[in-house]
Amino acid sequence: MKRVYTFGDGKAEGNAEMRNLLGGKGANLAEMNLLGMPVPPGFTITTEVCNEYTLNGSESVVKLIQEEVEAAIAHVETLTGKKFNDPANPLLVSVRSGARASMPGMMDTVLNLGMNDATVASLAEKSGNPRFAWDSYRRFVQMYGDVVLGMKPKSKADIDPFEEIMDKVKAEKGVKLDTELDVEDLQNLVKLFKAAVKDFTGKDFPDSAWEQLWGGICAVFDSWMNERAILYRRMNQIPEEWGTAVNVQAMVYGNMGDNSATGVAFSRDAATGENIFNGEYLINAQGEDVVAGIRTPQQITVEGSRRWAALQGITEEERVEKYPSLEESMPVCAAELIAIANRLENYYKDMQDMEFTIQDGKLWMLQTRNGKRTGAAMVKIAMDLLRAGEIDEKTTLLRMEPQKLDELLHPVFDKAALKRANVVAKGLPASPGAAAGQIVFSAEEAEAWSEKKKKVVLVRIETSPEDLRGMAVAQGILTMRGGMTSHAAVVARGMGKCCVSGAGEIKVDYKAKTVEMGGKVYNEGDWISLNGSTGEVYDGQVPTAEPELGGDFGAIMNLAAKYTKTLVRTNADTPRDAKQARHFGAQGIGLCRTEHMFFEGDRIKAVREMILASDVEGRRHALDKLLPMQRSDFEGIFEAMDGFGVTIRLLDPPLHEFVPHQTATQKELANEMGLTLEEVKAKVDSLEEFNPMLGHRGCRLGITYPEITEMQTRAIIEAALNMKARGIKVFPEIMIPLVGTLKEIQNQADVINITASKVFEERGESVAYKVGTMIEVPRAALTADQIATVADFFSFGTNDLTQMTFGYSRDDAPKFLKFYKEHGIIKTDPFEVLDQEGVGQLVRMGVEKGRATKPELKVGICGEHGGEPSSVKFCAKLGMNYVSCSPYRVPIARVAAAQAAIED
Ligand code: ADP
Ligand code: MG
Ligand code: MG
Repeated sequence: MKRVYTFGDGKAEGNAEMRNLLGGKGANLAEMNLLGMPVPPGFTITTEVCNEYTLNGSESVVKLIQEEVEAAIAHVETLTGKKFNDPANPLLVSVRSGARASMPGMMDTVLNLGMNDATVASLAEKSGNPRFAWDSYRRFVQMYGDVVLGMKPKSKADIDPFEEIMDKVKAEKGVKLDTELDVEDLQNLVKLFKAAVKDFTGKDFPDSAWEQLWGGICAVFDSWMNERAILYRRMNQIPEEWGTAVNVQAMVYGNMGDNSATGVAFSRDAATGENIFNGEYLINAQGEDVVAGIRTPQQITVEGSRRWAALQGITEEERVEKYPSLEESMPVCAAELIAIANRLENYYKDMQDMEFTIQDGKLWMLQTRNGKRTGAAMVKIAMDLLRAGEIDEKTTLLRMEPQKLDELLHPVFDKAALKRANVVAKGLPASPGAAAGQIVFSAEEAEAWSEKKKKVVLVRIETSPEDLRGMAVAQGILTMRGGMTSHAAVVARGMGKCCVSGAGEIKVDYKAKTVEMGGKVYNEGDWISLNGSTGEVYDGQVPTAEPELGGDFGAIMNLAAKYTKTLVRTNADTPRDAKQARHFGAQGIGLCRTEHMFFEGDRIKAVREMILASDVEGRRHALDKLLPMQRSDFEGIFEAMDGFGVTIRLLDPPLHEFVPHQTATQKELANEMGLTLEEVKAKVDSLEEFNPMLGHRGCRLGITYPEITEMQTRAIIEAALNMKARGIKVFPEIMIPLVGTLKEIQNQADVINITASKVFEERGESVAYKVGTMIEVPRAALTADQIATVADFFSFGTNDLTQMTFGYSRDDAPKFLKFYKEHGIIKTDPFEVLDQEGVGQLVRMGVEKGRATKPELKVGICGEHGGEPSSVKFCAKLGMNYVSCSPYRVPIARVAAAQAAIED
């Protein structure tokens, strides 16, 4: 078994196809070599070794790969003409993680590995630049201490011990920037850093390059299991088994002086998707400096630089002098970089996100990957590539991350309100969208406030991976520091969250919990609004407006319609929701819950009257009042869904949910109904159940009180006839909830059919209708062959089915599911993502048994899962006729269903 793959000098043992084994970074480093691009030589230790490491520990794994690693180092030595662990002519390397899926900033990299007191001297001499040598050395000791020796503080509240020392040295010297430190300062720093290491570990800093290398390799493997990485994997559903590869690569130096630089570049605009090459760089800097937001990065292109300066209110003269673009400061390297970006995009047929370093006027490529992007950019880039003939229609659809379409459906600022809004600060348009919320200053507060259902904007000096959870719940993020590629910007774009970064003129004070903007001091809880598309920050809460669909979005929807084999319906209880869903392309209603109609206005009175009635007579009297209201509800819905099927579910929840529980309201009700308070109380008490989820609800209600089913059927059929008379095409489907036995569905189907016939007779006309059931009790799935003898259709109610299959109460489960998720007992919440392994078996069985009895049986799903992409695909692959989901998930489901058809 080969565990180490080398690359360098236009050759590589791996290639782009091998990303599972080599990780994304390793596979692409290999491929860039094969494409003849300038890449420092190195090697990749495979992701399989990571799994061996997790299983067997460091000692055994080091033994396993020692020979191969030594040979690979020798290979790099040959290509660079330098020697590892050799004080005279030292080879320095970076040790980099690289998983199959990109996990930006989630794991740690060590640069300049191989340095010690002897090598620093020869590096200084060889480069003729002692400052560079010592700067590299102090960075190395710091990174090694943080990453490999575990000195990086676990909590955000604690300060990195090295940063603390550095701040002290800078303060003593009275300087602000790292670049203002001279050789002596840096030498002093190294000494102080090493002393801190000894303090912490009780051992001297390792001098041997080999010891450093093994420490670095093991640290990368360890980082796969660190908290940040685990959280990121969980949020992005990346399996732990994928592992990370380790890339060891010869160092190139962007910190060698003013003819050196480091930067990142994108072949297209990751925020808007426009076909505009862009990026940022820093002169005389290394690695993470650009992303860390320590200094303000400069733009790569002249055009980008001018746009940036305009946003910042910087004049052209000042821009050219202080912030020139790479095209202006290093035109040859800039041209080469742009040519490489074009070739890479052409090769991968997708937008590339690249890292590069310029060492003394020579360009080196350090990474390329398919860039993260906003939902809007995802749609635009794919459509642009399709129109350019670079990719075909199927690939275009497969390029969609369905969840991200959600970003295109959400409100943008109301244009008129925006004109009146007061701009109090300006930053970079880091991640587009509109956000209005109350200011909070920490991730913890963001979480706490949002749990209280408050909308928050997270305001930070800069963000780091520790802020992830807070960012996830905030409406938007505002940072004082950091460029377009800062952590906040990259992560926000990935999440589709509105973000304004690098708003330099705002003053954030964490201690006082204030932020000063536009001459005003804002406190925690004050409202502000962010425009992630322009970088503007507004005072107060700016109202938002609906987004515009059509255009590229519409084109993607049309493609989905062309390839899908599964219809997408919607769950809608009101004509308004139904219209919204049709707007998004829903083809019918898969679930119309009638109980929601019972709560509105006067209806609840009639409902309560029905419940409190002591006999059938009384109940019928109350139901007669409800009938016209229900009928008009259905008329509205049939009208909104003209031409499409509408599945209406009969009353489902336990009656206890409809009666008042407070004495005051009970008294009111008693007065209205001419009862005593005691009588009302007694009735309410009698409805109380130990376990309402498994109690007197669903078809159990309709069976014990057939008059309810009669009224609802009458309302549906009469509404259908009325609408039909008006020329509207109606396809009513009456759905019986919570069926578990053949007898249950038979009983209710009889009531429905008899009632419908009666209405037809009365009216002298008829309309076609279907009678079906939800499959949500496990027994219904197990006996689906019997149930299908009566049912015209099945609709899988996977919320209840999940609840009853797991035995997890939906209302109580969140308490322990959170713990389960954090401790790896479950991978995903089964109420969000259909459990294909368990619940999925019942669904499959239900479909197969049902269709065995009745081949033409119409089958769909109407649980929450109907809008979750992986669950939609599962249902599509089972051959369901439709999935049904809430209106805003319709586009997501449409694309997921089309993808399922293409993948099949
Ligand atoms: P991440 O996956 O977090 O981006 P990387 O492994 O890409 O981490 O490295 C972190 C930073 O160090 C990047 O800016 C990268 O370009 C830089 N870097 C990595 N290896 C080298 C190297 N051999 N020479 C110079 N810079 C490097
Ligand atoms: Mg990187
Ligand atoms: Mg149910």
